Amino acid sequence: MKTWLIVIGIDKFYLTDKEKDYYLSAIKAGVKFVELEDKVLGANFQYIAKDTALTETKMLGEGKWLCPQGKWHTKGWECSCEIKDKLLE
Ligand SMILES: [Zn+2]
Repeated sequence: MKTWLIVIGIDKFYLTDKEKDYYLSAIKAGVKFVELEDKVLGANFQYIAKDTALTETKMLGEGKWLCPQGKWHTKGWECSCEIKDKLLE
C-alpha cells in the first residue's frame, strides 16, 4: 500500500513504506535523484506525510467530524452509523 504522500514542487507522489525508507536513506547518502520502481524522484522534497494524518487535517479543515465508529460526518449532521449497522445486520 502506498500510504506515504511526498510533495516535490507542485507534484504529489505516493510511496510505500519501503520506498519512503529507501528514498530517505538515499537522500541522506547524498543522492540527488532517487530511482524507484516506476519513477525517479528529486531529493528536493517539501514534505512527506502519512496520508491518514493528511486526510484528517483536510477533513477537519472542511468542518467534518469523526464519530466513535471511525466515520467522517458533515458538520451539523448526526451520526447514524449505529442505526445503519443495525439495519445492515
Ligand atoms: Zn458515525
